[in-house]
Amino acid sequence: MTKTSILDVDLFVIGAGSGGVRAARIAAGHGAAVAIAESDRVGGTCVIRGCVPKKLLVVASRFAETFDAASGFGWSHAGRHFDWKTLIGNTQGEVARLESLYRGNLEASGVVLCQEHACLVDAHTIRLRSGRLIRARHILVATGARAVRPEFPGAEHLLSSDDLFELPALPRSFCVMGGGYIAVEVAGLLAGLGVSTTLVHRGSQLLRGFDEDLQRSLHQALVERGIRVELNAVVSRVDAAGEGFQIRLADGRSLAADRVLAATGRRPNTDGLGLEAAGVSLDGAGAIPVDQDSRTRIPGIFAVGDVTNRVNLTPVALREGQAVAELLFGSRTAPVDHRNVPTAVFSTPEIGTVGPSEQQARELYPRLQVYRSSFVPLASALSRRKDRMLIKLLVDGDSGRVVAAHLLGTDAAELIQLMAVAIRGGLTKSDFDATVAVHPTVAEELVTLRMAVPAAPSMAAAATVD
Ligand code: NDP
Repeated sequence: MTKTSILDVDLFVIGAGSGGVRAARIAAGHGAAVAIAESDRVGGTCVIRGCVPKKLLVVASRFAETFDAASGFGWSHAGRHFDWKTLIGNTQGEVARLESLYRGNLEASGVVLCQEHACLVDAHTIRLRSGRLIRARHILVATGARAVRPEFPGAEHLLSSDDLFELPALPRSFCVMGGGYIAVEVAGLLAGLGVSTTLVHRGSQLLRGFDEDLQRSLHQALVERGIRVELNAVVSRVDAAGEGFQIRLADGRSLAADRVLAATGRRPNTDGLGLEAAGVSLDGAGAIPVDQDSRTRIPGIFAVGDVTNRVNLTPVALREGQAVAELLFGSRTAPVDHRNVPTAVFSTPEIGTVGPSEQQARELYPRLQVYRSSFVPLASALSRRKDRMLIKLLVDGDSGRVVAAHLLGTDAAELIQLMAVAIRGGLTKSDFDATVAVHPTVAEELVTLRMAVPAAPSMAAAATVD
């Protein structure tokens, strides 16, 4: 394309992250002329600075526990050494490999990649930073979200989770602000790598909106792993102090750390997109409002993924992107179902959850039955630390259907994927009871929970035998 040329396409996608790339490739696969703009690296938050590098760091952080546990099984080993530079170098290598796969797949699908910023001129015209204009029958905004920095004196000192993957060396101590997904994941992985870690959260419980058993059990497990957890703690300022920082809390307390990281939420990326020019307005959270087919109120303009602030998870963005492409160029499929989306929190121990929390479910199902078990898995029997596994099923007492599963412990993220299939399929507690257990596993507990517990007792009271 020359600078002034106009390219006509059937679909122009802004943002080559999970949702955008999926939509572009599926649309091109149906024969549509598709272009996609990306001003950063291809792959989006998930691949470049989110799920993928985070999970690799989490895996790295769990080796120390495995080494410790090994001695109970008869293994002994010489002194061990961890090298941050090796981990970050190898992680970035894997990210680069995935990025090139994404690029290759776009190219192989015939999608034109415009490696520059794009903004809307009107509902069917896009201008690239280079000045090139593109006319599109349909436009898909899939620009994701970015970390929000809280506002108080010294906030410029705060790192975001993006910065974690670029740190030249691993500090001795870290203060992590926030109590959501990223905060508990980052605190867990730092502590596992031997960093003295403090988690500072303004709320009274971690993971707002999650089942209270998960909140309590995770809090307890983080403390057992040596993480200092400060709840109801509002940061009022951060000051540079020597080589590190002094974090001052509104109640007068203060703490010190080499680095401070804010994991205080993310905001949709809508600045500089020309959305107003095209007539697309934003909601109170700065997100693009869409209907169940991801249409904005302007005909021809769609939006998917975190920029719409629906369920901000990569697999959901993929589904939404695919659904838009199918709607426009393929066979009409059912809209994406945002109910019962399973999710995992890669804290250590990790969480897998699907369906409403017990507190929410009590509103929805008057005859709710709660099945709960907390036990030490066989794999931990010979380890010094007896990490517990929490398994909780919620059952609608009227229909017998299992409506939610909340798991905390080893492989909870893997287990919850299959639980989501069962819940989506409408299976009843009787179906679970009729299923033969696989022994000895953690998962067998899912089909051997016999007695519903009385209304919302504490975890400790409900624990079954170890
Ligand atoms: P979350 O919205 O999950 O959590 C934000 C946290 O920051 C909350 O605890 C919130 O407290 C707190 N907070 C917000 N504003 C302030 C403030 N001004 N001062 C102090 N604390 C504040 O956001 P995350 O950044 O953790 O994650 C963003 C999204 O990314 C998640 O919603 C999730 O969908 C996705 N994600 C998914 C992952 C996965 O699937 N494993 C992993 C990482 C991210 P309060 O509760 O009081 O509002």
